[in-house]
Amino acid sequence: MPRPILATVHPAALQHNLTQVRRHALQSRVWAVVKANAYGHGIERVFDALRAADGFALLDLAEAERVRALGWRGPILLLEGVFEPRDLELCSRLGLWHTVHCDAQIDWLAAHKTQQPHRVFLKMNSGMNRLGFAPERLRSAWARLNALTQVDEVSLMMHFSDADGPKGIDAALAAFDEATRDLSGERSLANSAAVLRHAERTRADWVRPGIVLYGSAPDFPEHDAAHWQLQPTQTLATRLIGVQQLQVGDSVGYGSRFVAERPMRIGIAAVGYADGYPRVAPTGTPVLVDGVRTQLVGRVSMDMVTVDLTPVPDAGVGSEVTLWGRAGTLAGSTQRGALLPIDEVAQAAGTVGYELMCAVAPRVPVAVEAQQHQPPLEPRT
Ligand SMILES: *Cc1c(COP(=O)(O)O)cnc(C)c1O
Repeated sequence: MPRPILATVHPAALQHNLTQVRRHALQSRVWAVVKANAYGHGIERVFDALRAADGFALLDLAEAERVRALGWRGPILLLEGVFEPRDLELCSRLGLWHTVHCDAQIDWLAAHKTQQPHRVFLKMNSGMNRLGFAPERLRSAWARLNALTQVDEVSLMMHFSDADGPKGIDAALAAFDEATRDLSGERSLANSAAVLRHAERTRADWVRPGIVLYGSAPDFPEHDAAHWQLQPTQTLATRLIGVQQLQVGDSVGYGSRFVAERPMRIGIAAVGYADGYPRVAPTGTPVLVDGVRTQLVGRVSMDMVTVDLTPVPDAGVGSEVTLWGRAGTLAGSTQRGALLPIDEVAQAAGTVGYELMCAVAPRVPVAVEAQQHQPPLEPRT
């Protein structure tokens, strides 16, 4: 028998979260951001649930090919643009739209031979200082692109550094408005945090939500997924493979990090950092056993974690352990309904939901939850 660990993707939750995005974004067209293999879920596993989006945004050319191979004929946007001149051939062949964030990318386009003029998204650096043209250099880049026969339509985009936090979007938005005031072209501003927190000011022709589609709150802990009415799209679950009875003074795991202060039962669960569970998750990190909330004790090891069974006295070998997501995903489980938000686990481990969902390791088998019948969602026109 294989190890009992399983990741489960929940398509109905992906559909629900996309609907939530539409509620905030109103008439904006929605790029479903599926970079990093759909935030660790698997592009092929999320595609059907997200095909009601207006386009798919990602950054790896091989991932763009996979979206086309699934039969998607609508827009695909490369969020970092091309990495070398010959990538433009694939853009021509597959009709990929691409970000242009630096002069080299314009030079490559100018030298590119194509019958198919490209749709490009010109990126402004609005203060994050990763990719994009400085505001004062945007106009000349826009003019250069518009003069190229290789370019069909030039759109304008920016990316917020602080849409999720107290610094907010005022300065970035003002810089973008100022630099683009009299430049024609469609606009794309908002990531998930901007879609949820600053919808009125960041709605535009296109929005670019990622994490919100996967049911994690971009501004946790200020708001949680329930506040934004998001549903978890990924569950990581396993089973107990052992139980130990500890006496006062007994320790647990490598480094004897946890020492029992009272007699207690602990369970040994088949998940570790080699599965993508964060090694830094400390004693106290929440976990569900048979749908009941309890906590990690002792260090996470490569293939196992240890959990306090005090609140679940009936648990034993074979009991379901949910690391995040929805209880009841394993065969034979009767524990439906209980939720463990990925954001709470991430916070305990000093990271964000994004990292945990992306890090589920290749050795973990993945199932797609069977869908109750839903009427098909048609893309907006
Ligand atoms: C990843 C990414 C997004 C989506 O960000 P979320 O915080 O996941 O919504 C949007 N735009 C760009 C340019 C990105 O790289």
